[in-house]
Formats: sequence, structure tokens, C-alpha cells
Amino acid sequence: MPIRIPFPSLIVLVGPSGSGKTTWAEANFKAGQVVSSDALRAAVGTGQHDQKASADAFAVLESIVDMRLARELVTVIDTLGLNADDRLRWRQKATDAGVPAIAIAFDTDQKTCKDRNKRRSRSIPPKVLDSQITRYAETRPALEDEGFAAVYTADDVTPVALPSWSADQVSPTRRLRFGLQVSNYEWGDVSTPDTLAAIARRAEAAGFESLWLMDHFRQIPQVGPAWNDMLEAYTTLAWLAGVTDTIKLGALVTGLTYRNVGLLAKIISTLDVLSDGRAICGIGAGWFKQEHEAFGYVYPPDRERLDLLEDALQALPILWGAGAKSFEGKVVSIPEALAYPRPVQEHIPILVGGSGEKRTLKLVAQYADACNLMGGPDDVRHKLAVLDAHCEAVGRDRTEIEVTHLSPTFVYSTRPELEAEAKAMGMDVDVLLGPFSGGTVTDNVTRFTGLSEAGVDLAIVAIANLHRPGSLETFGEVIEAFSI
Ligand code: GDP
Ligand code: MG
Repeated sequence: MPIRIPFPSLIVLVGPSGSGKTTWAEANFKAGQVVSSDALRAAVGTGQHDQKASADAFAVLESIVDMRLARELVTVIDTLGLNADDRLRWRQKATDAGVPAIAIAFDTDQKTCKDRNKRRSRSIPPKVLDSQITRYAETRPALEDEGFAAVYTADDVTPVALPSWSADQVSPTRRLRFGLQVSNYEWGDVSTPDTLAAIARRAEAAGFESLWLMDHFRQIPQVGPAWNDMLEAYTTLAWLAGVTDTIKLGALVTGLTYRNVGLLAKIISTLDVLSDGRAICGIGAGWFKQEHEAFGYVYPPDRERLDLLEDALQALPILWGAGAKSFEGKVVSIPEALAYPRPVQEHIPILVGGSGEKRTLKLVAQYADACNLMGGPDDVRHKLAVLDAHCEAVGRDRTEIEVTHLSPTFVYSTRPELEAEAKAMGMDVDVLLGPFSGGTVTDNVTRFTGLSEAGVDLAIVAIANLHRPGSLETFGEVIEAFSI
């Protein structure tokens, strides 16, 4: 049966000689993933059966386990596994590395073990095997309560060797996809266009499906000071369209207060034409009052901004459509909605930012292709329950609506790397990461598994350490774990 083992994990085999441990390990894992006391006796002594080399073989085994755990690599310990102190130490090491420890018990009947032993070219003495069988019988019932994350019987388990995580950590019905948001342009003394182009191309190669920019004219207080560099979103998206091939492009999200709706339709259809059908239309009612005031924009009251959102949701598809219909909304009037060339995409997807429960999510249910949520799995579940109710009320199938999610995250290959970075910044790891912000690849897989199970289809991440060489590629390992 394909019981799926989380990768990475530390897998401890337990069974007497001849119970089939080495055969099972070879069948299910790559050679480098298995550390075997027999093989190491052969490496440091005269052969697999050189008992005098045992202490040295176990010392090497222990070092290999340490080093592989530090790299969060899947590791199978192929020994008898009958010593409780050994098992306790290995579990402890796995816990320290943040990797689950799993025991695989080999319940092969004793007659089979004995027959196999007799047939071996180098048998072990029958008395030694008898004593192993007795110890196994004592160990087996205790194993369940020792503190392993799981105990499986070898016969029941076919490990599924995914690259970095088992498929059952990922909800089987959903395949989580990822987008990248670039929200900070403070890269120091480097070429801005080259750096941006490199980020976009690397994101594309790492498996990000979409690339998102904020629609702001000055940095928002959540990210940095107002005088930090901030590029205008749609000018930048046009540049990114020219330097990439497949990644979708959008603003997360366009403040509708900043541009006439007709102009916005033109900007997005132009982006769609120039990118050969890769534009996504992210829109919202706007929120950054200070920015409006600083640039001399009118910041209408909440109700009027939501009217604007409702009008835009109806007017944009009309503007992208054929002909020159007129549109008369609550606050938007377009006497002649003629805008050519029409977009490449038959239907440019519209994502609505914001999760106001009374009106914004209702507008999503009525008009949008995607919503955008924030927070942890419980927040997502709550908002989706609200959206479900709105969908029900307006007769919309909720599964048509793509659930996107935005969050900041850090990504590091290993825990030691993360700890070193936190130390260099003079911070505790917890302070550096904050409540929802990832950590190692494994931490991110765990976190996004929770969000995927809560109903997220597309996770958009603002990688806080994007500047770090290899960060996008490392996040690619998270993406790979969800690509089933
Ligand atoms: P270990 O001592 O627990 O590592 O056991 P091994 O994996 O070395 O297996 C001992 C012998 O049993 C080998 O000759 C294997 O080929 C054989 N063996 C192991 N598993 C199976 C099995 O599932 N079916 C059969 N027929 N033979 C097996
Ligand atoms: Mg063996």
C-alpha cells in the first residue's frame, strides 16, 4: 500500500537479521539515502561481517546521520534497530533538525528469517539470530509509544519518493501554484532594469506562475519608508513582459482611484497584447489615503470607492469586448467603450484585492475570477465561508473562483543557514520570521500545505530575502513539492 512518508524524514528500520530490511531499503530509496551498518563495516573493516569494525562503522554511521539531518535530507538507518538508546538518540537528532522520525518494523515471521539466514553465504550463528528474534518480540509492542512520528509495518508501506516532501503532506485534490510579488526595489548599487529582468527570468525558471507588482507611487509603510525606490507598476510590467516568455503579469492590486477606468482597460489590454496573452487584471478599491493626498488624488469615502469597484468589474470586460457599447454605472460613465486592439486573451482574468465581508466578497461572488486573501489557514477558511454564502445567494459556483493568497515569506535551504542570517542581523529567528513567514524549505512546505488545505489555489509570496543569491531557486523546491 502506498503509505506516503514525509520527505525529508529520518527512517529507522527495526527487525532481526533476514527480516528484509536491506532489501526493502534498496527497493524504495536511492543508495545515498540509506546508511547501513553492514555496508560501513565493509567500508572501514574487512567486510560486512567484520564484527571488530562495528564500533568504527557505527561512529561513521552517526556522523553521516548528523550531516544528512543538518541538510534536511531523507535518511534511512539500516541497522538491526534493536537498541532502545540508539533509537532514542536518533529521534532526538531528528527533532533537533526539525525532521520527523519514522520507524519501519519488519514483522517477518521467525521461520522465514531463519531459513533466509541458512541460505545466506555468510550465515550468522543460530543463537545470535534467536536472541535478535527475542529482542524484536520485546521491542515491537514498545515501538508504538516511543515517540516516533509514525510506526509502519514494512509490508504496508511503499514510500513515495517525491523530491522534497511526500504527496500526502499536500492535499491530494489540490495542486497549489505560486506567484511572486516584488514589493521592494531597494537593491543597492546595481542596475535596476537588469536586476528586475533577472528576478523575473529566475522566477519563471523556478516555477512561479505569475509575477506581481504593487500599484503604489511611494513605498507603503508596511514595507519601508516613503522615500524608498518605487517603480510605477504598469510601466514596469511592460518591461517585464519584454524580458520574459511565459510568466503571467499583474498588479496586486491596481487602485481604481488612480486611473480612469477606460485608461486602465487600455493599459491592461496593451499589456496583454505585448505579453502575448499574459496579463492578469488585479483591482481593488484602494486604501492608502496618505498617498492619495500626497499626489493630489481625491480619496472618496468607502462606499463610493466600492461603487467604483463594482462599476469597474462590469465596465472592464465591456471595454475589452467588441464594439463600442456605452456603460452607465454608479460612478463611472463611458459613453463609447471602444478600445482596440482587443486583448489576446478571450477573457482577461479579474482578481479583486481585499476581503471586506459585506461588500467586497459579494462583488467577488458576483463578478470576479479570483479573490485575494491574507493570514493563516483559519483566516482563509473564515473568508471562504463568507464567500460561499455570497456565492450561494447570487447563484454562483464558488469553485469557479480562484482563491489567491498573499504573504511575505523568508526562504532558506537549511535551519543553520537561517540561524546564521538571523544572527548576522542581530535578531532572534522568531523575530526575523514573524508569525506567518516561512523559514526553511520544509517550514514553507508545511505552512503552504495548511493554506492549500484551507482552500488556497495560488499562493503569492513576497520573498523578504529576495536579494539573497539562490533565494528564488530555493523557493523553487517548495513549488516542486506541490507540483503533483
Ligand atoms: P536484513 O538482514 O533484514 O537486511 O534482510 P535482507 O534484506 O538482507 O534480506 C535477507 C534475505 O531475504 C535476502 O536474501 C533477500 O533477498 C531476502 N528477502 C528480503 N525480503 C524479501 C522478500 O520480500 N521476499 C523474498 N522472497 N525474499 C526477501
Ligand atoms: Mg541488512
